[in-house]
Amino acid sequence: MKKSNRVLSILISTVMITSAFSFAPASFAETADDTAAPAAETTSEEAALGQASQAEDTAAENPVQTPEQDVPETAEVYKISTIVQPQNSGTIKVNPSEVSKGESATYTVVPADGNKLVSLEINGKEQETEDPYGTVTGTFVPEADTVIKAVFDSLGTYKITTSVNSSSKGSITKSANVSENGSFTVKATPKDGYYVADLQVDGESLGSISSYTFDHVTSNHKVKAVFKKQIKIMLDAGHFGNYNRSPVYASYYESKMSWALHNYLKKELESYGFEVGVTRSSQAKDLGVYYRGTASKGYDLFLSLHSNSSTSKTSDYPLIITQKGNTGDAIAKGLGKAIQSTMKTKQAYKIWQKLNKDGKTEYYGVLRGAKAVGTKGMIVEHSFHTNLAATKWLSSNSNLKKMAKAEAAILADDYGMTKDSVPSGGDDNASANPSEPTEPTTKPSEPTTSEPTTPAPVKTVSTSQKVKVLVADLNMRKSYSSSSKSMGKATKDKTYQLKAKTEDGKWGQIKSNGYWIYLPGYTKVVKDQESDSKTVASSQKVKVTVSNLNMRKSYSSSSKSMGKAKKNKTYQLKAKTKDGKWGQIKSNGYWIYLPGYTKVVSGTKSSSSSSTSKTVASSQKVKITVSSLNMRKSYSTSAKSMGKAKKNKVYQLKAKTKDGKWGQIKSNGYWIYLPGYTKLV
Ligand SMILES: [Zn+2]
Repeated sequence: MKKSNRVLSILISTVMITSAFSFAPASFAETADDTAAPAAETTSEEAALGQASQAEDTAAENPVQTPEQDVPETAEVYKISTIVQPQNSGTIKVNPSEVSKGESATYTVVPADGNKLVSLEINGKEQETEDPYGTVTGTFVPEADTVIKAVFDSLGTYKITTSVNSSSKGSITKSANVSENGSFTVKATPKDGYYVADLQVDGESLGSISSYTFDHVTSNHKVKAVFKKQIKIMLDAGHFGNYNRSPVYASYYESKMSWALHNYLKKELESYGFEVGVTRSSQAKDLGVYYRGTASKGYDLFLSLHSNSSTSKTSDYPLIITQKGNTGDAIAKGLGKAIQSTMKTKQAYKIWQKLNKDGKTEYYGVLRGAKAVGTKGMIVEHSFHTNLAATKWLSSNSNLKKMAKAEAAILADDYGMTKDSVPSGGDDNASANPSEPTEPTTKPSEPTTSEPTTPAPVKTVSTSQKVKVLVADLNMRKSYSSSSKSMGKATKDKTYQLKAKTEDGKWGQIKSNGYWIYLPGYTKVVKDQESDSKTVASSQKVKVTVSNLNMRKSYSSSSKSMGKAKKNKTYQLKAKTKDGKWGQIKSNGYWIYLPGYTKVVSGTKSSSSSSTSKTVASSQKVKITVSSLNMRKSYSTSAKSMGKAKKNKVYQLKAKTKDGKWGQIKSNGYWIYLPGYTKLV
C-alpha cells in the first residue's frame, strides 16, 4: 500500500507541476480544465517515442503506417490522479488509484475547515454534488487515465445584526459574524416589568417570541426585539360568598357570576400577555371594599366586576363607573360597548362617576382605594340581575366566557397587547368555578381570538410569504376567525404558500385551498434563499460563449462571484429568472448572466456521435515531437488524413476530446493524436 501511495503522489506531483507551468500567463478559467490529463502521460511516452519517431522519419512516405496507429488506444490500467484548487483547501481520496479497464474507483471529496466545494470534475466533466459543505463521494468506471479535479472556495462570513427598540427595556444577543452554513441563535431578554412584544427578523414581524435560530446561514440578517412595558391588571370579583340573589331568577347570585367571570377574564387577559392579579384568593374570603382597591398598588388598571340591580325589571344596560373626571375613558367606553353587544342589552351602556358629598372623594370604596394607590379603577356592571333575560344570560358559563373574551379584547386593544407571545403553560383545566361543567378538552389549534359579536371589519392584504406549520392540529378555517368553521387540519412541518394575511398579521390564507390559519406561535416564516417569486424552473442547457463569465451567488451582478464559468462548457440549468436573464446552474446552484454570454444548447440532440458531447474547448498549445503525424478530419484514426503536422512546430488547439487524446488545431480544424506525439508548450 505504501508503495502504491508513493507512486500516486509522485504522479500527482508531476501533474501539479506541469499544470502550474501551463497556467501562466493564461487565465485560470481557460486553462485549468484541460491541462492535466495529457500532461501526466507526456514524460514516459515521450521517452518511449524517441526511437519510434526516428523510425517514422524514414518511413514518413508510407501513408499506411501512421504513427498513431501503433499506439494502443485502450491501456489496460488507468491511473487516477487528483487536483485540488487552491492548494490545501480540501482533499480528494481515490480508491484505488489505478484500475484495470472495466473496474470502478471511488472518490471522497472533503473540504478543509473553512472551505466548501465549488466544483468537481472528472476529466473535465462536471459532477453533481449534493452538499458543498460536507463529504462528497462517488463511484465511476474510468475509461482512460483520469483526473479528478475539485475546486474549493473559502466559506463566507455573514453578519447577524441585532438591535432593540429601547435598551432600557431589554437586551438582545450581541451582533455577531457567522460562518457560512453555520447556525446562530438570537435571544431577547426583557427587563423586569417588560416583555418581548415582537421579534422582527429581516423586517418581518414574528410576534412575541423571545428567540430565533438561523440555520445554514448564507446571507446577512437583522433581528430587532421590540420590548413593551408589562401591563398589570388587578381584577376584583366583587362580593364574596353567596351575595345578591336575583329576585327574578332564583339560582343566580351576583357574587357567583362575578367570581366565575373574573377567572375567565384573568385567563383571557393572560393569553394576551397581561400580568393579572386578583384581590381575593377564594370566593368565600371577604375583604373590605377599600382594601380591594388598594390591592391594585403598582397595577395599571383596577376592575371590579358586578351585575346591577334596579327597582325596574326592564332596566337592561351596562354601566361603567369610573373615577372622578374620567368621563371619556376609552377603556370604559370600550367595555360598555362590548358588554352591550355581547349581551345584546335592550339599552345602551352608560358611564358614570359618583362622588361623596364633599364633591372630591370617590363614593365607592373600591374606587377610593384604587385612587389612593394611584391606580385607574372602574366598576363594571354587567346589566341587571333584576332583569330576567339578563340574569339568565349571565347564568351561562359559556356566555361568561364570551364576555371575558370580549372584555379582554378591548383591554388588549387599548394597551396594544397581542396574543402572539404569551408563554404557554399554566393549568387550563383548573376551573375556578366549581359549578362549571368540565368541557371536553379539545386541543386548542389556535388561540381563540377575542371577537366582539360585532367584529370590526378586518382588512386583508396580499402576501407571498411562506410559513411552516410548527404544531399538529392547526385548524384550517373557512375565514380568519377561531369561530369560523374548521375545514381540516394543516400538516405539521409542512410549508404553505400564503396568498393573503389579515392586516394585523395574525391570520394567513393558504394559496392552494383558500383556507385560513392562525399564524403567531403556530407557524414560522420560511425565508427563501432566493425569492421564488422571481424565478422559474428551467431544464435548459446553455453553452458559455465567453471566458470569465462569473458564477454568482444570486441573480444580480452585485452578488458575490463564486468563480468563473468555463468557456464552451455546457451547463444544465435548474432555474431562470422570470425575465430570462439569469440562469441557475444545476450542479452548484450558482447564477450566470445569459444574454450575450451563453447560447442555448438543444437538450435532445445528444447522441454519442455528436461532436459536442465528446469534446471540450482547449486553448492549449502543443509541439509536435514526431514527423509524419497525421492531421485528420475527425478524432479517429479511421478519419481521413488531411496532411501531416510538422515536427517541432507548435500548434494552437481549440478543442480536445474529453479523454484528452485528440486535439483540434485552431488554424485548420483538423485533429491530431496527442499522447506520445506531442508535448505541451
Ligand atoms: Zn355588586
